[in-house]
Amino acid sequence: MLTYTPPWLPKLNDTDIPDDICLTDFVFDDQYRPWSCAHSPNPFVDSVEGFGYSVHETRQRIEWLAAGLAAHLHVNVDSGHVFDRVVSVFAVNNIHTPTIAWAVLHMNGVVSPANAAFLASELASQLQDSGSLALFTCPSKLDTACEAADLARVPRENVFLIPIPGDEMPTHTAPQDFTSIEDLISKGRQLPSIPRTPWVRGQGRRQVAYLCYSSGTSGTPKGVMVSHFNIIANILQMTLYESTFRPQEDRDVILGVLPQSHIYSVVLMAHVAAFRGDTVVTMAKFELMDLIRAVQRFQMTLLYVVPPILISLAQQSALAKDAQTFDLPSVRRIYCGAAPLTQELTEAVRQRYPNVTLGQGYGMTEAPTVIASHPGTVFDGSSGCIIPGVQVRIVARDGTEVTTLNTPGELHVKGPQIALGYYRREEATRDTFSPDGWLRTGDEVEIRRHPDTRDPHLFVVDRTKELIKVSGYQVAPAELEGHLLAHPIVADCAVIPVPNERSGEVPKALVVLRKDCGVSHTAAAAQLVAWVAKHKSKQKALRGGVEFVAEVPKSPSGKMLRRELRDGERTRRRTE
Ligand code: AMP
Repeated sequence: MLTYTPPWLPKLNDTDIPDDICLTDFVFDDQYRPWSCAHSPNPFVDSVEGFGYSVHETRQRIEWLAAGLAAHLHVNVDSGHVFDRVVSVFAVNNIHTPTIAWAVLHMNGVVSPANAAFLASELASQLQDSGSLALFTCPSKLDTACEAADLARVPRENVFLIPIPGDEMPTHTAPQDFTSIEDLISKGRQLPSIPRTPWVRGQGRRQVAYLCYSSGTSGTPKGVMVSHFNIIANILQMTLYESTFRPQEDRDVILGVLPQSHIYSVVLMAHVAAFRGDTVVTMAKFELMDLIRAVQRFQMTLLYVVPPILISLAQQSALAKDAQTFDLPSVRRIYCGAAPLTQELTEAVRQRYPNVTLGQGYGMTEAPTVIASHPGTVFDGSSGCIIPGVQVRIVARDGTEVTTLNTPGELHVKGPQIALGYYRREEATRDTFSPDGWLRTGDEVEIRRHPDTRDPHLFVVDRTKELIKVSGYQVAPAELEGHLLAHPIVADCAVIPVPNERSGEVPKALVVLRKDCGVSHTAAAAQLVAWVAKHKSKQKALRGGVEFVAEVPKSPSGKMLRRELRDGERTRRRTE
């Protein structure tokens, strides 16, 4: 039998994880925190202004905001259903987003974070699917937010503004017409605060905290129901895992450039960081020199990144005449996740920054961090070892369990951080989440032993699900196919991933044209690329091109043979 658990891994019993407390209270309750709130530094700091609120101020602002928001929205926090109180956040990274999320949870509501790169129709779909009652946005996104709010029938008076340093004003909409987060906080100050009602045992396991969108193993984006317990569990799992190498008195200063809408950020760069008493420096957008300057200015110690950021870092620092500009002496660890990290990139980063531990983390929206590198047993190419409380199994294509090393199969995961399922999608939930708690990841992995430590490491070797990952962002082929089919010249189509040096993968469309469309291939390709660019965010652009085919291969039951298409593309590229 395969062993997945390294001998040094601490145990975390399910019963050790509180399930009768709201996530907001858990993060700030001194009873659970490794550091008292009174001794913790500012949890979030803005990279432009260097400004942040203390833990004490943050807690106060959460309470005031919750009271102000509940009054503005006329919600009774003790009655009805949590899904009657879904609040979306659509903004570039900033120090206020975690406060908004914790206030919504304190108000017994649900947070639905939206990708800040969305165009109006994409945001409107998420607002509608989640049944959002209100939306927080920032000045540069206000136009898009208003267009989406109108489409999804979210009243304009429930669109709230978050002022962010350096975030420029929109051209069409007047920000003064909108209620800001500070207006809501001022209103809440005048009101009695929402009392901390006691939760019954097990409530945290059932009550949804976040609806984060993911296409999962197939289909279009779906709301993943992440419970209060899921995130509390992941905080404890990560804290326990890191206790095996990080002294308890250490505090990290963390780079906060990855999108706050992604589960990776929600868990690691908001909840885990605040719970441990670390500081996150929020950056509204990635620009390499700004990032370098911010790392140096705030003496950051821990960088969470995705491969394209590492590529910029490694390439530009190698080319720079003044190499010292790129020195990062304060950084101890860099963690890369959300997409595969190549061996060449690993070596380039290691050569440039020999004193930094470069590790990986693996997780998904449906299962926030599951696997992470341990600095004592880093194995290039591996995503790391399982974290406490996680069980895994590897399932071969014939459905049997893999029992030998170096043998690929689909990763199945079980643990307290596995989400509850997809919101209002019973069939998709059944396909991915088994009743006995196993999650099908749609990723092909294998176990290899570290040559020195002999620890079992997980290597992600392929992805069998439909998902395309562009610079760590999800692109759902089904969503693009639906959009292309709405174009009058398209009779049928398939969207597949093709490799891209910088973004990892990009989408390519295989298109069957309507017989009578009368458009040349060159003109049709240009029309379809423009059709996607006009309505979909930039990660979804058809950067892999458009190829015209006679038919899209289907099974006798009419199901598209995606694997065949993808493998065909791979073979063709290898032979070219
Ligand atoms: P998301 O739900 O957006 O977090 O996407 C999850 C998917 O990203 C996983 O199922 C993997 O396909 C991919 N992924 C996440 N972390 C890694 C990693 N360290 N290496 C390779 N792929 C990863």
